[in-house]
Amino acid sequence: MKERLQKLIANAGLTSRRQAESWIEAGRVRVNGRPATLGESADPAVDRIEVDGRPLPRGGEVICLLLHKPSGYVTSARDPQGRPVVVELVKEFRERLYPVGRLDLTTSGLLLLTNDGELAQRLTHPRHEVEKTYLARIRGHLAADQARRLESGILLEDGPTAPAKVRVLRSQGSHGWIEISIREGRNRQVRRMFEAVGHPVSRLQRIRLAFLDLGELKPGQYRRLTADEIRRLK
Ligand code: URA
Repeated sequence: MKERLQKLIANAGLTSRRQAESWIEAGRVRVNGRPATLGESADPAVDRIEVDGRPLPRGGEVICLLLHKPSGYVTSARDPQGRPVVVELVKEFRERLYPVGRLDLTTSGLLLLTNDGELAQRLTHPRHEVEKTYLARIRGHLAADQARRLESGILLEDGPTAPAKVRVLRSQGSHGWIEISIREGRNRQVRRMFEAVGHPVSRLQRIRLAFLDLGELKPGQYRRLTADEIRRLK
């Protein structure tokens, strides 16, 4: 079916209709190899539509990326203070991608980005919160009773935490390495939990989310989730 180009471009998730109109006027859009004109319609099933020389992504296609977020990046598409943002790391994708949940500036590790608002909401909704596992380096050494307190729930200023899983991995000088799995996603939750038992976190990495892990990805690297992985998350 033929539709206005600006509508097709907006539906593909590239930008707003208004912005798409200015792209058409600026000569950035081509239909079957020739520059498009404002007001023109096309049929994406028949016509070859390109923006900046690249084919229009199929509308409705769900994109979900698994990024190894480096420390020092803000979990956002834009930062008013001009700090590096995670969306810069996936510039190859022109769709608007939104981070699923949030990792602190200095937290590294597994972060999902998607253009599917419903999927993002579902994964961060308190009722459906999926399990997330973090590797924390803490000051001092966690005693068994402190680990049990973290596991059974600890009172923070915004209420008690839900049950967690805690595994003491090893000690390194004056630090301990702990694996902790939680199903909530409150602001700075893991750091606040360890602070509450007197062991501030000096390094934090998210290593798993549901059945996904970082695999071989280095900080700053990412991969697309497969259709099957997306289905399992939904
Ligand atoms: N908990 C935290 O304290 N920080 C994060 O970035 C994620 C979970």
